[in-house]
Amino acid sequence: MTEFNGLVAVVTGGASGIGAAIADRLRERGAQVAVLDIDPAGANPEHFAVTANVADDASVRAAIAVVAAEFGRIDIVVNNAGIGAVGTVADNDDEEWHRVFDINVVGMARVARAALPYLRESPAAAIVNTSSIAATAGLPQRALYSATKGAVLSLTRAMAADHLREGIRVNCVNPGTADTPWVARLLDQADDPVAERAALNARQPHGRLVAASEVADAVAYLASPRSGSTTGTSIAVDGGMQNL
Ligand code: NAD
Repeated sequence: MTEFNGLVAVVTGGASGIGAAIADRLRERGAQVAVLDIDPAGANPEHFAVTANVADDASVRAAIAVVAAEFGRIDIVVNNAGIGAVGTVADNDDEEWHRVFDINVVGMARVARAALPYLRESPAAAIVNTSSIAATAGLPQRALYSATKGAVLSLTRAMAADHLREGIRVNCVNPGTADTPWVARLLDQADDPVAERAALNARQPHGRLVAASEVADAVAYLASPRSGSTTGTSIAVDGGMQNL
């Protein structure tokens, strides 16, 4: 498919997991893809990888400038970089709250702010943010993480309103528990990772983890002019978890 021919996409956190699947999908469909990642070693060599920390404004602005210099345009921004946090409100101190918000929420605003001048010039501008089932599900032991992902939903809607008249659409995806290196790292901490994975699969409404490629398909749709009448909304890719 060549729907993104001639377009340039920036994918943050695109060197691993969901971001890597998104970067691959956009490239398969014709986009030139720049991956911005704090650890770009795992990036697909077919992508233009730039080291960037979304928690550092100078780093983000420099990375976006490098992408613009390389390709001369930016049409699509996928704000996907994010980190986890485990615990109740009693378990994470202020420093941790600020650190995770700075990456998961402010990071998205930073990348968008740096890319907006280029998006305004694009005839097919789209921003897609990665939220989570945690935004709405009331998951135990995920107070801080859930708050950041709820903020991503709000940010998405507010940005959609702000940039509607500029022709920039802003949407998000809400993945359920997805089969990525992040989740593998959590499973590896269990006494019996194989049994823990089986139990995790069984807890999903459709009996298995979400595939990163399924999230990537939803992101590709939201990034594409095929969703040209869709802005300020989200697609759940969670096996139906949000309905439980
Ligand atoms: P992952 O750990 O496999 O990949 C995350 C990528 O982000 C890594 O390449 C990492 O280097 C990069 N990154 C981390 N901090 C960064 C920073 N400060 N600046 C730039 N890059 C940074 O994780 P994943 O499971 O693919 O998760 C990707 C996104 O999907 C996250 O926003 C996460 O919250 C969200 N999500 C994941 C799941 C899941 O179950 N895996 C579910 C819902 C939402």
